[in-house]
Amino acid sequence: TRDPDAMFKEGWLDEVRKERPEPDVYTRFPPEPNGYLHIGHSKAIAVNFGFARYHGGKCYLRFDDTNPEAEEEKFFTAIEDIIRWLGFKPYQITYSSDNFDKLYDLAEQLIHRDGAYVCHCTDEQIKDQRGGTDEKNKHPRFGCKHRDRPIEESLAEFRAMKEGKYKPREAFLRMKQDDFVTGNPQMWDLAAYRIIDQPHHRTGTKWKIYPTYDFTHCLCDSFEHITHSLCTVEFINSRESYEWLCDKVEVYKPMQREYGRLNLTGTVLSKRKIARLVKEGKVFDWDDPRLYTLVALRRRGVPPGAILSFVNELGVTTARSNIQTVRFESSIRKYLEMTVPRLMVITDPIKVTIDNLPEDYEEEVENAFGPKNVEMGSHQMPFTRTVYIERDDFRETASKDFFRLAPGASVGLLKVTYPIICTSFEKDNATGLVTEIHATYDKPAEGETFKKPKAYIHWVAESSKHSSPIKVEARVFNSLFKSDNPEAVEPNFMVDIREDSLVTYPNALAEVGLTEIRRRAPWPEEAGEANGEVKPGPESVRFQAMRVGYFCVDRETTAEKIILNRIVGLKEDAGK
Ligand code: ATP
Ligand code: MG
Ligand code: MG
Repeated sequence: TRDPDAMFKEGWLDEVRKERPEPDVYTRFPPEPNGYLHIGHSKAIAVNFGFARYHGGKCYLRFDDTNPEAEEEKFFTAIEDIIRWLGFKPYQITYSSDNFDKLYDLAEQLIHRDGAYVCHCTDEQIKDQRGGTDEKNKHPRFGCKHRDRPIEESLAEFRAMKEGKYKPREAFLRMKQDDFVTGNPQMWDLAAYRIIDQPHHRTGTKWKIYPTYDFTHCLCDSFEHITHSLCTVEFINSRESYEWLCDKVEVYKPMQREYGRLNLTGTVLSKRKIARLVKEGKVFDWDDPRLYTLVALRRRGVPPGAILSFVNELGVTTARSNIQTVRFESSIRKYLEMTVPRLMVITDPIKVTIDNLPEDYEEEVENAFGPKNVEMGSHQMPFTRTVYIERDDFRETASKDFFRLAPGASVGLLKVTYPIICTSFEKDNATGLVTEIHATYDKPAEGETFKKPKAYIHWVAESSKHSSPIKVEARVFNSLFKSDNPEAVEPNFMVDIREDSLVTYPNALAEVGLTEIRRRAPWPEEAGEANGEVKPGPESVRFQAMRVGYFCVDRETTAEKIILNRIVGLKEDAGK
């Protein structure tokens, strides 16, 4: 496995560090509190928090709360919680809105320095000033009539905006950037303040004007003395306006550098699309395990370490990573293989009566939790006259290419010494389903040898003494979409939804080892669950259900009913 710090030691992030080798590193992760974070954000979290941690520096969690229209309280807590779950601890939690007074003062200063003016142009007029949008009607860019209004007039108008003299869109503060004629649209006199007639969750009704991202972000970085302001490549043009504003108001200037976004294909990540899936009942909620929000991955049982290791393996460059969900899943699978214990679970059980064993027959069979890791220990499973096997492991007629159980055929039960041979079966004629199988235990007589079976299957036994098996509901999640690119499907992604994305097994049975595994969670102990940042949740009970897949305990589990979520299958799903 790759060095967990590899992404900081070499490549792009190492270059960025060398460009600015200041002893005290400060970074920030600046989400807008307007939705749940998704897998893409985990890269930004790993980059910013990880870079500071690696260099012995500090990383702020800064809520970029300058747009009161989209913000909701629940997002603040969800974002903070998921960062801690990933194992990071913010140096401080700050809010752009904490700086509203300071930002306002700097806006006035900017006007004083002839770096901003109050403009009353409409969107149409602004487009026209920027050269027009219509190909036939292209013309050189030009400044509007407000651009050259006297400084005192702009100052008075800006104060009037603040006092509520104007309605939204009737006036805005516009930066007077030095180079209106260059090719960089970020230098075409961007908006600095606009009127929004909405109360803000932290500042209430104090403000009627709110600063824009372009005005706020660089100045808040500066206030927090951010040394390395790491953002994604779409902001490359913003670097010029970022530096321009810091220079113009003469404040400390952080270094902005841009890395490529992480995008998962085969799913949708946009807030608007996920909101639609939730609203139309296609998924349970924002944390439905079929989604790729971080709350969903958490609920699905993906360990935080698997996410971080995936990001680290991809590395950081300026190129965008478009990764198939199946590739992400194979990375999770590899991670789980070495870090979680093994148990037997039957998703769709058929009862097998082993007729030649006595009614009260009970043998203890040893099953290692970690065949590849002795430290996980092992446990005893009862083996009795009544066992349950997977419906898939039985066929009503034997054939040469089928090595599991069928009339007259023999199969091994994992960890049990001798095989069983099927003698007959019963069937419910109404449903066509096999209801019970009869078998014999193929224990050879003294001095004889037995024929080794061609295949071994998983099983659980009935034992009242051991309270076995444990009844559970197992939920198997498949890809939510049929295609690799649901965004491109016409007329829209909703028609690409798979009908079988959730398969529920209400009568699944788990062996007794589950109780111990639940008691000893988290599996694995790592990230926020290991360093005390978060309390291990139900999903930290993760295990491999032998021959079935990786599972965790779902948060809807109660004292009466255990619900298991499949994290990933054991192999890539043939269907997708
Ligand atoms: P989205 O457009 O997906 O809603 P966003 O950019 O609006 O995302 P923010 O809340 O502004 O979301 O994101 C916080 C930080 O996370 C930003 O610095 C942003 O650049 C970064 N980020 C967002 N999406 C990705 C991604 N797919 N890969 C890497 N970093 C990302
Ligand atoms: Mg954003
Ligand atoms: Mg956005």
